Amino acid sequence: MHEFQYKDGMFCCEETPLAEIVKEHPTPFYLYSHKTVMDHFNKIKDAFKELDPVICFSMKSNSNLSICKALVNAGSGLDIVSGGELYKALKIGCPPEKIVYASVGKTEEEIKAAIKKGILFFNVESTPELIMIDTVAKGLKKKARVTIRLNPDVKADTHDYITTGTKEKKFGIDFASAEEIFDNANKYPHVELKGVHIHIGSQITETEPFVASVKKVLDFIEKSSVQIEWLNLGGGFGIIYEEEPARTAEEFARALVPLIKGKGLKLIMEPGRFIVGNSGILVCKVLYVKTGATGKKFAIVDAGMSDLIRPSLYEAYHRICPIAERKAKTFKYDIVGPICESGDYLALDRELPEVLAGDYLSVLGAGAYGYVMASNYNSRPRPAELLMINGEVKVARKAETYKDLVKGEKILREIK
Ligand code: PLP
Repeated sequence: MHEFQYKDGMFCCEETPLAEIVKEHPTPFYLYSHKTVMDHFNKIKDAFKELDPVICFSMKSNSNLSICKALVNAGSGLDIVSGGELYKALKIGCPPEKIVYASVGKTEEEIKAAIKKGILFFNVESTPELIMIDTVAKGLKKKARVTIRLNPDVKADTHDYITTGTKEKKFGIDFASAEEIFDNANKYPHVELKGVHIHIGSQITETEPFVASVKKVLDFIEKSSVQIEWLNLGGGFGIIYEEEPARTAEEFARALVPLIKGKGLKLIMEPGRFIVGNSGILVCKVLYVKTGATGKKFAIVDAGMSDLIRPSLYEAYHRICPIAERKAKTFKYDIVGPICESGDYLALDRELPEVLAGDYLSVLGAGAYGYVMASNYNSRPRPAELLMINGEVKVARKAETYKDLVKGEKILREIK
């Protein structure tokens, strides 16, 4: 469930009609519901409470400071993938002992900063990376805590670009190489090899791939020459965009908890999309409606792939809800942005009651991998991020200005 629904014909965020919000806030903008974010976080926490996991919200899905801070205040840790995310995590006061760090390409500087701050774990993705962490930790006269990211070679039914747990992908370490690492743990005296990590992909709506990978990993743990204390399950729980099965946190828990319970393992989870995906929308305005030579209707809106790239990048489906229900004849529309790319669309062939210039449309399910993937392509300022909190809309991040577009840039003297 989320807090974006029609009430008496008006599309609302919690109790407030979008029609009121667009009077105060120019489009395009992202709008998040604090209530929904908290609700989804608590659903995971409650469902897995028997295992008392350290839940580390995956910042890459939405690194808005207010959202991350709200989650940290509620007891969440953070899953980071870069020095930038470490900076933001510390800025909002996330305790370092609740930060886990994945990424196949951590730089020496990033590793140094994370060791200095004393993060909970590096999720290590290769032997050369492990050597680098060991070397950096030695230089700092510290010990770094490490889990080995295993690649369980399990295929999940999701988009290829967000499949990460199969052997041909760049992520993680195969079981044989991981075994070698654990068997030779004394080669890395400045790391504490404490656990294993998996993350098999994102937007996975079935429980089987998780079950299959956990079984493989538990088998690995049982046979390991080193006592493994921690199991990090990663993220990946899918949400409803279109007609996906409504997989609840309890269903995922029902499949996974019995496998892990009683094994004496401390658990970490890294959910992203499940918490924020349906907690945010992108709101845009129809600039023009035109009919192409083939009869196809285009609703051209003031948001595009620079604001929300998921449809263009993953052919992702997002529900489109006009902010006021209109009882009119329906037509099929391509909802397209102003960007100079044919791939710039938010929805294709979408049946909607007649759309007119000046209408406002909400693009649902935009809370995860939305703003974080926005760009300045076509020199378009990024939109604002608004947060509905305690019944009021607050600006959590201002829209960029044209000045922001040239920040840090200069015309070189040689050009003048
Ligand atoms: N953990 C890791 C290592 C990831 O790479 C990702 C995303 O790809 C996540 C967690 C979060 O995944 P999701 O948003 O699907 O929960």
